[in-house]
Amino acid sequence: MDRLQTPIEYLKGVGPNRANLLKQELNIHTFQDLLHFFPNRYIDRSTFYKIKDLPRNTSEVQIKGRIIDVKIIHQKKGKRLLAVFFDGENQMELVWFRGHQWIKENLKKNTTYVIFGRINWYSNRPGMPHPEMETLENFEKGFSKNLQAVYPSSDKLISKGISQKVIIKTMEELFNSFKNPFMETLPEDLRSKYLLIDKNTAIKNIHFPESQKILTAAQNRLKYEELFFIQLQLLMKNHQRKQKIKGFVFEKVGNHFNNFFNKHLPFELTEAQKRVVREIRKDIGNGHQMNRLLQGDVGSGKTIVALMLMLIAADNNFQSCLMAPTEILAKQHFQSIKSLIGDLDISIAILTGSTKKIERAEIAKKLTSGNLNILIGTHAVIEEKVKFENLGLVVVDEQHRFGVAQRAKLWGKNTIPPHVLVMSATPIPRTLAMSVYGDLDISVIDELPPGRKKVKTLHRYDKNRLKVFKFIADEIQKGRQIYVVYPLIKESEKMDYKDLMDGYESIARAFPPPMYHISIMHGQMAAKDKDYEMQRFINKQTQIMVATTVIEVGVNVPNASVMVIESAERFGLSQLHQLRGRVGRGNDQSYCILMSSHKLSTEAKTRLETMTTTTDGFKIAEVDLKLRGPGDIMGTQQSGVLDLKIADIIKDNEWLKNARSDAIALLREDPQLEVQKNMPIRQTLAKMKAYQNIWNYIS
Ligand code: ADP
Ligand code: MG
Repeated sequence: MDRLQTPIEYLKGVGPNRANLLKQELNIHTFQDLLHFFPNRYIDRSTFYKIKDLPRNTSEVQIKGRIIDVKIIHQKKGKRLLAVFFDGENQMELVWFRGHQWIKENLKKNTTYVIFGRINWYSNRPGMPHPEMETLENFEKGFSKNLQAVYPSSDKLISKGISQKVIIKTMEELFNSFKNPFMETLPEDLRSKYLLIDKNTAIKNIHFPESQKILTAAQNRLKYEELFFIQLQLLMKNHQRKQKIKGFVFEKVGNHFNNFFNKHLPFELTEAQKRVVREIRKDIGNGHQMNRLLQGDVGSGKTIVALMLMLIAADNNFQSCLMAPTEILAKQHFQSIKSLIGDLDISIAILTGSTKKIERAEIAKKLTSGNLNILIGTHAVIEEKVKFENLGLVVVDEQHRFGVAQRAKLWGKNTIPPHVLVMSATPIPRTLAMSVYGDLDISVIDELPPGRKKVKTLHRYDKNRLKVFKFIADEIQKGRQIYVVYPLIKESEKMDYKDLMDGYESIARAFPPPMYHISIMHGQMAAKDKDYEMQRFINKQTQIMVATTVIEVGVNVPNASVMVIESAERFGLSQLHQLRGRVGRGNDQSYCILMSSHKLSTEAKTRLETMTTTTDGFKIAEVDLKLRGPGDIMGTQQSGVLDLKIADIIKDNEWLKNARSDAIALLREDPQLEVQKNMPIRQTLAKMKAYQNIWNYIS
């Protein structure tokens, strides 16, 4: 048996109680798990302070000395334990608020200790609450005399006695009993390509670094290894899916598609749209199930691509379903698709939360009898009771609003899973997309339809509001329409509406009837009221739409050419970009005006500057990623792939790219991993439980 798989309770000093805690709190079950439990930082243990030289702040310090007195102080709120610590010249107090008895019994006088912890200053006297202590003798026996690892922990672990010291001791115990535990996981050629140190040296030094230099080498080695195996697994998973999961073959391009393409398509497709249609057609004709992410900036024309695909499905007697995140958006898709297909012999219906019972029954009948080609709707379309006669294609718009689980539900709606096209207007930098959606194929529409004028983006301070109002009035004079958006982070909270309502009033004062009419829209309005207001705006009965971010996604009113964003500093970058995407949809020069106060954080400044200097969604996404980190980028949390132990998707971007291209090259050269030099990879994969199924497939 592989000794690394030994249950953690068999390690000396651990036992069943601690083992349970390690399992529950840190997910450490085996020796291997413990060795792969990596520190999140390191502290310098080579420097000893004298009490008189302690820095006047609360940094962590290390001091050598003896305990000369111990006493318990009784207070109103319980007692505390005080020890007087003497470094040969000066004294300071060590304090404990819990665990007195044990500490009191174990503290030895006349023994030299090394204490470590954060200093507290009580007026001019330094103290140290809950120091880590160890006898000088033990300290000198320990592994880490320069840099000491600090491990992630939890309150529960600490209160149950699993301190940093215990973790370090446990780790030492493991290394003492077990020399060079690991077999090498990376082949020689990859290691020498990047001068990576061997696995055992890396693991030893990640826990007990001998120097900063070798620590860095250890980190690099382990980061590369982690990213490499993730990429390899993703690529193999994707490959396996294509091999194993059958998909419908849409072999025909028939009347529906041809009629549309020849007679109804209102414009020439962009080169990018044509390329994507070709990529998708290859997918749906090869007998495998398509799982494709279609990325395209706002306004790049994803809908038409989806429609053409749905027409091909209809040509092959399959039904399609298009799912949108909001009711407004579903309706818009329904209307625009209806007008695009005109008199084509295609039946479509819309199903949302507010669809009446009678209509629902009608739709259900048509769906199961196969008399409905395209169903458009919100989450309502994936409910259990919605049954299709022969669903062949699912299009999910604005993917970040849907969870992975919801997408998975769709798979069950036919005997063979339907093809899935996920459309996203939140551009994710390619490298991140690769690691998060590594098991999806990716198409990108990286070109806007011709003739679009770039949206001019300006940043204005609140005190210039009158000038901005004047500008709005001029644009309205020219026949254009205006959005004014207020930040409302939590749509549910009444308090937040104050900004919106105050704003509405001041705009209503500046733009009074009968000359002007104003619409208002926010998340707490009933769907039919939102609809009504939207419709008035679309019909040009109102010139200004005052709204919250409910209009962020998808709304398409080509005549609206000015987007004013109030308190723009309070919005995230991707939100600002989405909002700006609401204008610039027609032929007129459009504007986005970012209003803010003078007080701006550095981050807010960066966001506003980014918006005024670029309209490229991918560039914006890169900046966003740098500012916020990948965990916050919508939709990536649930992926699970970002659960990295040591690498960082942003900081280690270069490693990620290298790891990915190496994994691709490897699978191209040796798809079955049979070549002798690749045995370490094969053996490593075989041990990765989560991917046992892949292993079964390749072996
Ligand atoms: P998004 O990718 O943001 O969903 P849409 O599909 O809503 O974009 O398209 C935005 C607008 O551009 C729509 O009005 C659509 O009809 C139009 N459009 C799409 N493709 C083209 C094209 N090739 N040429 C001109 N206009 C186009
Ligand atoms: Mg869209």
